[in-house]
Amino acid sequence: MNSISASIIRWYETNGRELPWRNETDPFKIWLSEVILQQTKVEQGMPYFHKFVQRFENIYNLANAEEDEVLLLWQGLGYYSRARNMLACARKIVSDYHGKFPETVEELKKLPGIGSYTAAAISSFAFRKTYPAVDGNFNRIISRVFGINKPKNATEFQTEVFQIAENLIENAPPHIFNQAMMDFGSLVCKPRHALCNQCPIVDFCYAFKNKMVNELPMNPPKKPLKIRNFHYGIFHRKNQILLAKRVEKDIWENLYQLPMIETFEEQNPTFSPLQFANLLNINNISLFKTSDEIIHKLSHQKIIARFYHFEEIDFLQNSVEERQEQYRNWNSYLMTDIEKLKNYAMPQLVKDYLSDCGLMD
Ligand code: SF4
Repeated sequence: MNSISASIIRWYETNGRELPWRNETDPFKIWLSEVILQQTKVEQGMPYFHKFVQRFENIYNLANAEEDEVLLLWQGLGYYSRARNMLACARKIVSDYHGKFPETVEELKKLPGIGSYTAAAISSFAFRKTYPAVDGNFNRIISRVFGINKPKNATEFQTEVFQIAENLIENAPPHIFNQAMMDFGSLVCKPRHALCNQCPIVDFCYAFKNKMVNELPMNPPKKPLKIRNFHYGIFHRKNQILLAKRVEKDIWENLYQLPMIETFEEQNPTFSPLQFANLLNINNISLFKTSDEIIHKLSHQKIIARFYHFEEIDFLQNSVEERQEQYRNWNSYLMTDIEKLKNYAMPQLVKDYLSDCGLMD
């Protein structure tokens, strides 16, 4: 075995983390943990992993679930397309693979939401196939140790890292090597404040020798944030409130929110809350309170949200149904009891606001 791999595995054997999905060979649980942990810290993902495993014992239970339930369980993790893909993947495995995960990376990558990293993780952890699960930890460790001085999103960078990873995993137990790299990257060769003085491979490390630990891997230039203005209307009648499902291909697809109008000016949007009258095809609306601006940042977008509280309006369940017949855009609206709001998966921004004003727990 390569000496770098052997040192990292030796380090892992005494310092590796105890995680509930470690030593697991059930591909369903391995896959769940990997999907949940993409772009999520272990501490944040752990309760979601337990929640999903408790609710769905196997792939069949998940494949039979309603999307609304899956989104509700996922609520708070963000990146909701991962949850939708997870459900689509479970359904495909049941319909096309008799409920059994394929074993090879090539076959796994054909499934919704499974990219190279997740495929390699499932294939190596569950089926002991020799395939490096190259993630941010691999990128960081390999670029530092081998001095790869190219932006980490460049194809040349990824090809070089992958080739080195293939050499490192050769003759190593693949599931142990992949887990060891993940833990080593999270606990020692960390993005910031790497613990080089405790590092078992310091003698091999280009970045350490050349004082470039904080420069590698090289970050690509930052993309400017897209700024969006979301104006939310709170319309209620007695103990009921008007919700809208986000049906467009956009962030938060299929989640529930309040009726919303988006404007696109980056500075001082010219927006009148009375525009809600057009949106909802109602004649008389009367505003009684406007929230402060709330800034909500996503990875590539900055949402500036404002919430407008309107006086009670004369909505009844049957008037929603009548409106749905009359106006096409009403198909995504529904009235719900305020105490049932918790049953709807919502963007955290909306949920937090409704909680702050006492409409939700
Ligand atoms: S010496 Fe530092 S930068 Fe190099 S591999 Fe070890 S922890 Fe990472």
